[in-house]
Amino acid sequence: MDLGIRGKRALVCASSKGLGRGCAEALAEAGVDLVLNARGAEALEATAAAIRAKHRVSVVTVAGDITTETGRAAVLAKDPFDILVTNAGGPPPGLWSDWSREDFLKALDANMLTPIALMQAVLPGMMAQGWGRVVNITSVSVKAPIATLGLSNSARAGLTGFVAGTARQVARQGVTINNLLPGSHDTDRILALDSRIAQAKNIPLEDARAEQQAGIPVGRYGTPAEFGATCAFLCSQHAGFIIGQNVLLDGGATNTTM
Ligand code: NAP
Repeated sequence: MDLGIRGKRALVCASSKGLGRGCAEALAEAGVDLVLNARGAEALEATAAAIRAKHRVSVVTVAGDITTETGRAAVLAKDPFDILVTNAGGPPPGLWSDWSREDFLKALDANMLTPIALMQAVLPGMMAQGWGRVVNITSVSVKAPIATLGLSNSARAGLTGFVAGTARQVARQGVTINNLLPGSHDTDRILALDSRIAQAKNIPLEDARAEQQAGIPVGRYGTPAEFGATCAFLCSQHAGFIIGQNVLLDGGATNTTM
């Protein structure tokens, strides 16, 4: 399917690896020029070079921490954007009783206030030109809380509320905002979480991973490519009637009727 977005320009945050990279790759395949961001310059440059070589689109890199004002200012200096994909690292796991006010503020900054600040910066330009697409990478934890990820449960719920209200205020100007909710996908993040499980249960990492995947109806983790393809569709010309939705990609793991 032609997504109808060839020649558009996208900012994809936190995109040298994992789900962000999956989104960047799928947008590049659709002919979208990219601004990519991550903290580590080496992996970022390697990803940019691979995407340029494979898809023949323009790829600009901005190394920096997207959760800081300086990091955001550096990527926003590359404005205007037709497409914004927000993303950042997820907060650390722990118990509900573990976290201090400082821990909550850090999680809110990374997973709620950063995507909100980025939307506030780019939405006016998108509205003025009458076309824009925003996809926020959130988490399955928005739909069904993950016991060990209370910081994620909290911060992402706040972002989801902001999007629900805002998406309906910008839709008439041709701008869509939606959230993508990853369940377990095979990235460094899930490897780190699996390593903790293996350590806690005193079992080999491969056994922990097999156990985790067996609990998913589809019987495996999702891939960044599958995730990216859904993101690219939400950014396409065909998705103009999809407003303020929370799209769950979890292989059936969340046992809900709707
Ligand atoms: P990942 O494989 O660890 O990749 C994270 C990417 O983000 C890397 O490119 C990393 O590069 C970059 N990054 C991290 N923190 C950043 C920051 N502050 N500023 C700029 N770039 C940053 O993680 P992932 O699995 O793709 O996860 C992406 C998001 O989805 C996370 O918020 C995660 O919690 C959420 N999520 C993932 C899953 C899953 O199954 N994978 C499930 C639910 C939710 P640098 O380290 O070099 O900055």
